[in-house]
This record gives sequence, C-alpha cells and structure tokens, in this order.
Amino acid sequence: MLIKSAKFITSAVKPPQYPAPEFPEVAFAGRSNVGKSSLLNVLVNRKNLVKTSKTPGRTQLINFFLVNETISMVDLPGYGYARVPEKVKRSWGPMIETYLSQRETLTSVVLIMDIRRTPKTEEFNFIDWLNQRRIPCIPILTKIDKLSKTRQIKQRGAVARLLGMQPDQLIRFSAKTRAGMTDVWHAINSHMEQDLDHHESK
Ligand code: GDP
Repeated sequence: MLIKSAKFITSAVKPPQYPAPEFPEVAFAGRSNVGKSSLLNVLVNRKNLVKTSKTPGRTQLINFFLVNETISMVDLPGYGYARVPEKVKRSWGPMIETYLSQRETLTSVVLIMDIRRTPKTEEFNFIDWLNQRRIPCIPILTKIDKLSKTRQIKQRGAVARLLGMQPDQLIRFSAKTRAGMTDVWHAINSHMEQDLDHHESK
C-alpha cells in the first residue's frame, strides 16, 4: 500500500463528535501497551502520527485518521490497563460499544494481541461480541520479533485453538521489523472491497 497522505482528523467520545461517515473505515483495538500505536504508525508509514501511549489512561478517546484521502482509520482506546481508575474503565465499554454498533462505515476491526500472551476473557468477549454483530475481525499477533520462528508457529497454533480459529487466520506482525505489514493491509483492503460489493449489489 503506497501511503500518499495520513492525517489526524479528530477525537471523539460520542457519535455527534464523529467525522461524517464518508469513507470506508477500519478500527484498531487491543489491550493497552500491546503495540497498537506502533502498528498503526507502521501501516501509515509515519513515525509518530499515532502517539504511543506512554501515559496510559490519558488516551481514552476515539481517534480518527484519514489515509490517502480515502480510508478512515480509527484508534480505539486500549483496554485492560490496571492503573486506570474504575470509573474511567466503566465508561470505555459503552463508548466503544456505541462506536462499533453505530458506525455505518465500519468494515472491519483489527484486534491486536501480543504473541507471547495467552488471550483472556477480554479477548474472548470482544471476539464473541463482534461475531454476534457480524462485524469482521482481523486478529493480529504482534511483537513476533521477540520469539523465534519455531516459537511463533507454536504459539500461534495455541492461540488459534483457544480462539476457535485456524492458525493462518492469525496474522503475525512486528512493528520493529515491519514483518506482516502487507498481510495486514491486504486483510483490511479485502474487507473494504467486500463491503463495497455488498453495497453496490443492494
Ligand atoms: P499501545 O499502548 O498499544 O499503543 O502500544 P505502543 O505502540 O505504545 O507499544 C508499547 C511498547 O511496545 C513500546 O515500548 C513499543 O516500542 C513496543 N512495541 C510495539 N510493537 C512492538 C513490536 O512489534 N516489537 C517489539 N519488540 N516491541 C514493540
């Protein structure tokens, strides 16, 4: 994917603050510190378009970006950070749920997981929730540079079993080496095209 432009559009908490639904959209979700900002920056080929969350709990907004004037990317707040106050935690769920269930231009959700970590309740619930609403999920295992190739394959198999997926559904990625970047773009684009076909055939 050739990136000609990538810019921040706006931050939002509730629907009236979302940008007009003009472009096909992909949203990015994951546990805090999983490497979500790093993945987004690699995808758009920018060093620091998406601010890495050095201060967890401060990035509790839905951030919208526009790529090549045609693709909308949404950075959802990271979940599961222990140091975030309970009150803030409780407001995330509804904010993200509202976005995911109401955003008509949403074509898929990229779910980023650390390849070294076993998926837990948050991931199971999130995937179930997306499945129930027929929202396509693109699962990614990131930080693969931390494991040998053999360990990557083993760990991917284990995660796939837990999630009830085929191993090759899980894209292996590294923000450090940029491995898997093309696969991620390919998955995003294919959901955007499917969505377009779907609308055109209506
Ligand atoms: P976020 O909170 O999910 O946005 O996570 P960040 O993108 O800020 O990354 C959290 C930490 O993990 C930072 O120290 C990154 O440098 C590191 N990191 C992110 N992706 C990778 C990766 O693919 N490989 C390695 N080795 N480190 C990574």
